[in-house]
Amino acid sequence: MRLDLNTGTFVDTGLRPDHDAVIGADRTLTWQALAAEAAAWCTQARAAGFAADVPVIIRGHKEAAFFVAIAGALMLGAPFVPVDTIYPDERMDRIARTLGTHAYYDARTATFEPLPHASSPQPLQEKGLAYVLFTSGTTGEPKGVQIGRESVHTLIDWMAHDFALGTAPVFLNQAPFSFDLSMYEVMATLALGGTVVLASREAITQGDAFLKTLAAHGVTTWVSTPSFAQQQLLQPDFSGQGLPTLDTFLFCGEVLSVTLARHLRQRFPKARIINTYGPTEATVATTWIVVDDAMLAGADKLPIGYPKRGSEVFVQDGELCIAGPHVMRGYLNREDLNATRMFSHNGTRGFRTGDLGAVDELGRLFCHGRIDDQVKVGGYRIELMEIDAALGKLPGVQNAAAVPLRRPDGSVARIVGFVQPASGEGQLPEPLPFPPHDWKASLGEALPPYMIPSELIPRQTLPVSVNFKIDRAKLAQDYRDMQLNPIRHPEGKHNG
Ligand code: AMP
Repeated sequence: MRLDLNTGTFVDTGLRPDHDAVIGADRTLTWQALAAEAAAWCTQARAAGFAADVPVIIRGHKEAAFFVAIAGALMLGAPFVPVDTIYPDERMDRIARTLGTHAYYDARTATFEPLPHASSPQPLQEKGLAYVLFTSGTTGEPKGVQIGRESVHTLIDWMAHDFALGTAPVFLNQAPFSFDLSMYEVMATLALGGTVVLASREAITQGDAFLKTLAAHGVTTWVSTPSFAQQQLLQPDFSGQGLPTLDTFLFCGEVLSVTLARHLRQRFPKARIINTYGPTEATVATTWIVVDDAMLAGADKLPIGYPKRGSEVFVQDGELCIAGPHVMRGYLNREDLNATRMFSHNGTRGFRTGDLGAVDELGRLFCHGRIDDQVKVGGYRIELMEIDAALGKLPGVQNAAAVPLRRPDGSVARIVGFVQPASGEGQLPEPLPFPPHDWKASLGEALPPYMIPSELIPRQTLPVSVNFKIDRAKLAQDYRDMQLNPIRHPEGKHNG
């Protein structure tokens, strides 16, 4: 069976109804059970006031009920808004406020819970959305990326026609549902049929046992960020022998290094490696290329490949720009950003990515990093200014800067926070009550764990660059000097 997204009904395929559809962290659902539970979810959602175009937040983490709710929302035409439990209550609250939604679905208890932000269901202005995904925002407010149903169709067409995933692929789903990478396997499973294995945060830390579970379920398609695959290399069983059914690695979200791709070619000589690239704003991914041995020989950087069918990608003033029906309908209630980041191109929507790009003589695209202060840590997208804003709210802090510390290959190993103590006007800065009490816990009320700096370092002033922006590069250099020569920095550092 599979879900026909046009009609919102489950239809027969060659797969038997008792074939597993969802292997959740808590329980397994056959296709028949998924169809029945999704229909029951729609009834429950209607009773709670949800209808077409009324956004529904789904909160939880890898429960089978989370997947059921996604299927149900697609059937109902209610844009779903996935919020993983990795996000603190305050962030969920801000998302709910931005949406003006009256209730949310809790996948842990399989119930709808009321919210104080609206007394009645509020449809969104944009009609026919599939989902709204919130990403890190520079002002401290998460940005809601609105993805239309037409965009999801382009994703599915592409996966069905170009990825050669077989008739009943078994997907690894590991990224939180609030990270759009996970929409690859969610949408492919639902629309094409097959099975999805939902791996929880706890499960993925279990090393060998985790891989044995994947082998037992016959996983064929590994979907993750390169960082996650890199971690698995520590396990000897992460190999063609350990995972004999695995035939495809589907990567997205950050740079795929030549070194990792070579390791994978050695461990999994029979598996294909597909490098895909794209922002959430253009529905999961936009470009792709199969990385083979010929490409790896002598390469020091991998291309992100060619645009997917129906998409146009070009480099304008050094920036990668994307156009096509898979580009978002805009950020929710952010006309300011929509005016600068979106454009119209040959009658379709266009998006300026903020990524530096280039094309080689073979027409292959390359991504050369960011124009702005957005970074990736373990594949998670982070606006450094969002961390600055949260640090600036700590008691006794006047100004703050989150500084990424990079590995030699340019990837971010961790983030440290520089904070300037509050000072009275015209006086010398007063000593910062340092470190502010429970600073990690305070930040954790607003930020998910992957955005919390590993250390806080006090500074009398924060250096600014020629354009009067905080000079993060200088602070990173100072941090490196401090490691080499700690005596010059009596102010010290605190890692909570
Ligand atoms: P997200 O919206 O979380 O998918 O993050 C999108 C950003 O991640 C892009 O704008 C790029 O900066 C980066 N990114 C995604 N895929 C790749 C890739 N294959 N290679 C290099 N950078 C990537």
